[in-house]
Amino acid sequence: MRICYISSEVAPLAKTGGLADVAGALPADLQRRGHDIRLFMPYYPQVTGPLELRPIAAATDVAVQCGPHELRFNLLQTKLPGTLLDIYLIDCPALYDRPALYTLDPDEHLRFLLLQRAALECCQRLQFAPQIIHCNDWHAALVPLLLKTVYGWDRLFAGTRTLLTIHNIGYQGIFPASTANTLNLGASLSLLDAADLANGQINWLKNGIVHADRVSTVSPTYAREICTPAGGYGLDAALRARSHPVAGILNGVDYSQWNPATDAFLDYHFSEQDLSGKRRVKAKVLRTSDDATLDLPLIGVVSRMTVQKGFDLLFDTLPGILAQRQLHFFALGSGDAPYENFFASLQQAFPDRVTFIRGYNERLGHMIEAGSDLFLMPSLYEPCGLNQLYSLKYGTVPIVRRTGGLADSVQMWDPATRRGTGVVFNDFDANGVRWAIETALDLFQDKSAWRTLIANGMAQDFSWEHQGGEYEQLYKELLAQEPA
Ligand code: ADP
Repeated sequence: MRICYISSEVAPLAKTGGLADVAGALPADLQRRGHDIRLFMPYYPQVTGPLELRPIAAATDVAVQCGPHELRFNLLQTKLPGTLLDIYLIDCPALYDRPALYTLDPDEHLRFLLLQRAALECCQRLQFAPQIIHCNDWHAALVPLLLKTVYGWDRLFAGTRTLLTIHNIGYQGIFPASTANTLNLGASLSLLDAADLANGQINWLKNGIVHADRVSTVSPTYAREICTPAGGYGLDAALRARSHPVAGILNGVDYSQWNPATDAFLDYHFSEQDLSGKRRVKAKVLRTSDDATLDLPLIGVVSRMTVQKGFDLLFDTLPGILAQRQLHFFALGSGDAPYENFFASLQQAFPDRVTFIRGYNERLGHMIEAGSDLFLMPSLYEPCGLNQLYSLKYGTVPIVRRTGGLADSVQMWDPATRRGTGVVFNDFDANGVRWAIETALDLFQDKSAWRTLIANGMAQDFSWEHQGGEYEQLYKELLAQEPA
């Protein structure tokens, strides 16, 4: 199959979250399956490293008219590090040369409109007729509409089907209605949602949900949750109105990056047979070689600090647990002030046992995954979640709330059958998280149960070799389907 894959971030080139991990792994897996896949992303200044960038002559100084704005870009090609996959970078410093991948700047809509227009323009100039255009999140959600309108004349796209994958429905790309003129829709302006326009806005993700041939998301449970008023963030009705149900495909893990036996970020390696390296990593994380300290359980957190991640539940629980029980807690992340302030004050209250590092640090993220005994994800909602999958592989027992992909990937430990891979709580409240953390700390004391629990988790396989096949199947179904 010929596939065009569009993502606003791709690991390891530029990453803020799980989308980059997926975009950096799934396309490479699809290529290994023999598909011709072209990956497009913006050329941010954050993309660094020893890359061999090749300008593509057929797409040099391309002008794209977006309403009153003439945007110009160059196309650069390189290999995605560690793969044989060609990645195309849209080079437009005027739009992408910013301190962060995402901004609140007034031209944010133009930044990602260009990504989509440029990907389609490049398909034309490369004479690449995609059978599938795989659009990820709101940054690429206008492609289905653009194909029906601005590019409707071009037979190159006559056989193209579109798949929109929602990695997080909390982010929708909502812009003022006044930006409609940048879309060049002409008489097709009526294809925009009239109620939204009347409210003065355009919702890109909703637009994609309406116009894509198929919609998918990143776990089966989240696929059901986003079709309900509680989980749909206002888009559940649009999702329910579609003729095909939302497909839910759990994300895979790139075990070439996330494997405790080979992880390039770790000084010590380990496996299920020999966990001694795990204790050495823990010693490094905690900066100690004291055995009594290393015998205490370490709970890790690596996360964006937003309301989605459920840390509110810790405000009234974690200080009490730390006061009563012997454990270490290590959090890495940045985001909204209430969470950063909470973890900072926790560190002040328990300086010997709590560490909070504010920021984004890939290496430390790997070390915390590897060195912790437990990994805490009390999410309010979690489309897929990757850290619980990494945790399982690293012999780090996940404590998760039963939501989205967490529900699909972590099974509650059952002492009777000795099955299960973690500790799972149901209700999003303080009692739920307190019960889960205390249950996990008790389990840690039961060395025989703990050994089995770790082994169960390390034996799980969430590799892309398996999950990629599900996308391949979905693409095949799409090709057999009449356009939406
Ligand atoms: P989300 O996409 O909602 O942020 P995911 O669990 O899907 O959550 O993916 C998060 C990814 O980003 C993981 O690879 C995680 O290790 C990484 N990550 C998040 N915050 C940090 C941080 N502060 N430092 C390093 N890595 C981080």
